[in-house]
Amino acid sequence: MAQAAAASDPESAGQRIFLSPPHMSGNELRLVEEAFASNYVAPVGPMVDALEREFAERTGVAGATAVASGTAALHLVLRLLGVGAGDEVWTSTLTFIGGVSPICQLGAAPVFFDVSPATWTIDPALLADEMAKAARFGRLPKAVVPTDLYGQSCDIDTILAICEPYRIPVVTDSAEALGATYRGRPVGSAGAAAIFSLNGNKIITASGGGIIVSRDRRLTDQARFLAQQARDPAPHYEHTTLGYNYRLSNVCAAIARGQLAVLDDRVAARRAIFTRYQAGLGDLPGIAFMPEAAYGRCTRWLTVMLVDPQEFGADREVLRLALEAANIEARPVWKPMHLQPVFAQARHVGGAVSESCFEKGLCLPSGSALAQSGQGRVIDIVRGGLASAKRVG
Ligand SMILES: *Cc1c(COP(=O)(O)O)cnc(C)c1O
Repeated sequence: MAQAAAASDPESAGQRIFLSPPHMSGNELRLVEEAFASNYVAPVGPMVDALEREFAERTGVAGATAVASGTAALHLVLRLLGVGAGDEVWTSTLTFIGGVSPICQLGAAPVFFDVSPATWTIDPALLADEMAKAARFGRLPKAVVPTDLYGQSCDIDTILAICEPYRIPVVTDSAEALGATYRGRPVGSAGAAAIFSLNGNKIITASGGGIIVSRDRRLTDQARFLAQQARDPAPHYEHTTLGYNYRLSNVCAAIARGQLAVLDDRVAARRAIFTRYQAGLGDLPGIAFMPEAAYGRCTRWLTVMLVDPQEFGADREVLRLALEAANIEARPVWKPMHLQPVFAQARHVGGAVSESCFEKGLCLPSGSALAQSGQGRVIDIVRGGLASAKRVG
């Protein structure tokens, strides 16, 4: 019902505006009914098969495997790349925990890299430096997992050029960037593999789910095998390795197919929301927005606003609380992983840029069903927040 809440007129009754609620197109229910009619109310079925074909096509790769979450997708890929105890996996510090916990669950150590201020994705210069050092000391990472943040692609060609001489596989965590492009190519089409998330807050959803895509079909086939309890072909179930119960439900795949069909509309809507925020708030002193990298098209999955407390006269937390008081959900930028208590012992390379993004960054309501009237409410509160801060000052 979150969708109904978000889709109805938000000016009436000061209804809560969520950060990024689901946005159904209307076709999902028909496809769910089709799934029911086929009686594949199960973790296999024609909707799962079709979803995988459609994702591979959309991303321009050979294979796709649908699983229960983006986190599970990354877990499977890293396991298939042989990540295990004693290995390092290098990733961006500015990310969500779902992109990191699989590294730890496999017994490997994450190393957190700072981001570039121009893209908010892993800084290739830091990566190149550290790779050269690691090569000298014979301590190369087992894999590199750059994050495509808030709908923006990492600088994948540069990252691949750094990793390829050492044959280090690159897996992009594209959970937040489905529909984005890099030099005209779809995000997720480069590297050893990419993962997407179909969680309820992402640009399209299956209610919950994840997708692995790869140009290497053997990898996505092996991922499918592991996701289904690693059952060797035998009527009695034979096991030569251990797997997981990670498959996506055929019913959820039906929802995801309805959503994938409208992905381009969803990208356009999120970008239009970003443009309206920029037009409505960009003139305020001390307000800026997450930059869009020159090399690609960001989906603006979330609009991220930067608040300079000195220039603006209030910090992002004052604004967040003002929005919350008006029943509007906003959130700080991801807290960098190297600042998380659970990673107090982890190695990190730089971090000042990410720390500044975290200190100043506020994610504004960006759901593709957000009405202009609702967005107007958000803009008014932010402008009002400035006025009240001025009164106090
Ligand atoms: C959402 C997200 C994930 C995890 O996806 P789930 O489907 O929620 O498991 C991983 N990495 C990033 C960057 C994400 O935003």
